[in-house]
Amino acid sequence: MGILNPPLMPEEASARICWFIRLRWLAAAGVLVFVAVGHFLLRLEFAVLPLVVIAISIALYNVGFLVLARKIQPVDKWGGRFALLQVGIDILALTFLMHYGGGIENPFIPYYLFHVIIAAILLPERKVGLQVLFASICIAGVAIAEFKGLLRHHHIGGLLPFELYNNWTFVAIAVFSIVTTLVIASYLAASISERLHERERQLAESNAVLAEQDHVKSRYVMRVAHDLAGPAGMITSCLKLVTQGFTGSIPEKSLDMVQRAQHKSEYLGDLVRDLLSLSRIKATRKIPKSAVQLKEIVRQVFEELEPHIVEKSLILEQNFPANLPAVYGNADAIHELIGNLVANAVKYAIVSGQVKVDMSNTGNEVLVKIQDNGVGIPVEAVPHIFEEFYRADNVKAEAVEGTGLGLSIVKQILNTHDGKIWVESEQDKGTTFSFTLPIDRESHA
Ligand code: ADP
Repeated sequence: MGILNPPLMPEEASARICWFIRLRWLAAAGVLVFVAVGHFLLRLEFAVLPLVVIAISIALYNVGFLVLARKIQPVDKWGGRFALLQVGIDILALTFLMHYGGGIENPFIPYYLFHVIIAAILLPERKVGLQVLFASICIAGVAIAEFKGLLRHHHIGGLLPFELYNNWTFVAIAVFSIVTTLVIASYLAASISERLHERERQLAESNAVLAEQDHVKSRYVMRVAHDLAGPAGMITSCLKLVTQGFTGSIPEKSLDMVQRAQHKSEYLGDLVRDLLSLSRIKATRKIPKSAVQLKEIVRQVFEELEPHIVEKSLILEQNFPANLPAVYGNADAIHELIGNLVANAVKYAIVSGQVKVDMSNTGNEVLVKIQDNGVGIPVEAVPHIFEEFYRADNVKAEAVEGTGLGLSIVKQILNTHDGKIWVESEQDKGTTFSFTLPIDRESHA
C-alpha cells in the first residue's frame, strides 16, 4: 500500500511530495554540474546544449509541480494522480538525458533506479509496476530505435574507444540487465515501504489506544480529586476556626498541634485543587476558545496575589504596547496559566525583590515573559521542571511549599493552545519563563 492510499496521514503524504520536489532541484543542478565537469574538466565530447536544455526544463516543470503541490490535497484522488504524473515525467526527462548522453552506452542509466525507488515509496504497488514498465519501455525503446537507426545516436567522444549501440548482443544484454534490476529493486523497495507503512499504522493505533486510556485515567483522577476537594476544604475551615480562637481557648500544646494539622490540610487542599485542574485539562477533548485580553488577566492575577506581594514587599512591573492584540484561547485556562507562573515568581522571588511581566507582539503570536530575581533553578533541574510532582532540591531545602504540579498544568494548557514555553534561569540570580500564544486573527485583522 502506498502513500496516497488512506489511512496514511495527510501531513506525511504532503511532506513526501515536498521532499520529492526538493530532490528534483538537486537533480536539475546535478545534470548541469555533470555537464560542466564532463565538458570542461574531462574534456569529453557530447551534446552539451540538449543536456543543458533538459536540465533547465526539469527546473521549469518543477516550478509547475511546486505550484500544483500547494493546490492539491495529497490524500485525495488528484494527489495520487499528481504523484504518478511526477514520476512519469521524471522518467521521460531521464530518457531524454539518456538519449542525448550516449543512449545505451550512457554510464548514468542506473539512475533509473532512483525513480523506481521513489515510485515505490510514493505510489501504490500497482502504479509502481506501471512506472517500471514505462521506464523499461523508454530504455528499450531508445536502445532499439538507435540500433535500428530510427533515432540518431549521440556518442560520448573520449569515454568509449568504440561504439556499442550498434552491437546487438551488447544492446540485448544491457537492456535485459537494466530491466531486471529495475523490477527486482522496485519489488524490494515496495515491500520494505509496505512493511514500514504497516508499522506506522500500528503505532498510530497504539497511540490512539494510549491516548484513550490516559483520557479515562484523567477522568477517574478528576472524580476522585473533585470528591476530595470538599472534605479537604471543610477540614481546613474547621481547623482555622479553632486556631483563630472562635471555639474558645485551648492549651498551648494543643494549639501547636492543631496549627500543624491546619498547615497540612491547607497543603492537601492545594494538592487536590492542582490535581483537579490538571486532570480536568487532560480530560477535556475540546476547549472553547475566543479572543482573550492578556493585560486584563495579568491585572487580575496581580490583584489576587496582592497579600503575598505585600507580605514579601515585592515590586511589580507590567510592560506591554498599547496596541497589544488579543490572543485566541480559553480565558479561564489562560488565567490559570498566568496565575501559576506569576504565583511561582512571587513565591520564589527574594524578599523586596522584583517580579516583571513583559508582553509583546511577535507577528503571529503574543510573547509573554515572566521574570523574577529569586532563588533560580539549578541547571540539572531545568529539564525536569515540567514533569508532574517534580520539585527542585533548592526549593525543597528552603522549605518553600508546593505541589510540583503548577508547571505541568501550565504545559498542558499551552499544549491545548498551540503555545510554546521555555525557561532561562540562574541559581540565586533569578528566572524568566517565556511563553507564546497565538494572536486572535478575527479581532486583529
Ligand atoms: P511548585 O508547586 O513546587 O512550585 P511547579 O510545578 O509550579 O511546582 O514548579 C516545579 C518546580 O520548578 C518548582 O518546585 C521549582 O523547583 C521550580 N520553579 C518553578 N518556577 C520557579 C521560579 N520562578 N523560580 C525558581 N524555581 C522555580
